[in-house]
Amino acid sequence: MRSYFDDFSLYIHIPYCASKCAYCDFLSFSDRSTMRAYFDALCAEIHLRGKEVARKVNSIYLGGGTPSLAAAYFPMLKDAIFDSFEVEKDAEISAEANPESVSDAFIEAAQAFGVNRVSLGVQSLSDPLLKRIGRVHDRKTALAALSRLTNAFPSVGADIMVGLPSESDADVRETIKTLCDFPLTHLSCYGLILEKGTKLYAEAKKGVFTQDEDETANRYDLACELLANGGFERYEISNFARDKKVCRYNTSVWQYADYLGLGLGASSFLKKDGGFPARRRKNTRDLNRYIECAGKARPTTQIIEHEEGKEEFLMLSLRLTEGVDVLTYNALFGGNLLSEKQEKLSRLAPFLEISDRKIAIKPEYFYVSNSIISDLL
Ligand code: SF4
Repeated sequence: MRSYFDDFSLYIHIPYCASKCAYCDFLSFSDRSTMRAYFDALCAEIHLRGKEVARKVNSIYLGGGTPSLAAAYFPMLKDAIFDSFEVEKDAEISAEANPESVSDAFIEAAQAFGVNRVSLGVQSLSDPLLKRIGRVHDRKTALAALSRLTNAFPSVGADIMVGLPSESDADVRETIKTLCDFPLTHLSCYGLILEKGTKLYAEAKKGVFTQDEDETANRYDLACELLANGGFERYEISNFARDKKVCRYNTSVWQYADYLGLGLGASSFLKKDGGFPARRRKNTRDLNRYIECAGKARPTTQIIEHEEGKEEFLMLSLRLTEGVDVLTYNALFGGNLLSEKQEKLSRLAPFLEISDRKIAIKPEYFYVSNSIISDLL
């Protein structure tokens, strides 16, 4: 029987996009001239790491960036992964996509790869809002992409954002109601965060618009209500699934399982023989260096000792509505979580669901999850 300690995922970073969105601080570039060289380096890194880490893979996540822009490189990527790692037959293989690049070529290449889950960056179905946040697609393109994807893959999800400049409740209602009419299995909903270095951050600094945090929080509550009405169950602070079709990759990261990140800026988390000290490794974020070193650029490594591991485990697991699996925590760290935290748990009891097997934040208190988590640590 599979146990928690068998969970092992691969994250593959594909850092190219059609253009840079106004709110985005992800590691991505609109100049695609280096793509061929990047994939050569990425495949070299995959071969190298496959020799170092002999683990069975039960989920693969192609993230970005915009992986759907790189369909031409999927065959070489698939060969590199399947030559280097043993991938379980029923592995979840997810790919992120954006509407403008959901082409025949992408769908065929993703199917040939074995992709069984696609996550589409929709963000909004309002054309003025899409333009305002610098997305290259419009509503029509997003709807066409959703129709094509839901016909081609067993599991399709969409990402949306709330709290966008000049957004109204009606925009959120319309976007979510329309999305709920598609046979989607998954929805990720994020509140806009103004990240330093982005175009929207600079605009907000100049006073072009102001972000009202209470309004964003209220709109997030509205989104949760609409998603619940549409059959989506919240399973993580920002993630919702129908029929329990959660994202296995993301869930295993929140459950503090091991994963190997491959590609530019990708991070990995690997425990030592299933325990501690664990290592978190981060690949270089310098594209030229990554390519020149053909995937051999030395990553930075952080050692995570037992006590730090306990805090990270709690911080990540408490993001899930399932919360902390008490037995897994006890097996991983030794000791007994319920007695270790007895005093804090009784103080925080009104905000938590507590049983012999789990500790979870009640979803109605997710909006103050950061302070609940820091009080518990
Ligand atoms: S498509 Fe995604 S990764 Fe690319 S620029 Fe926009 S938000 Fe960033």
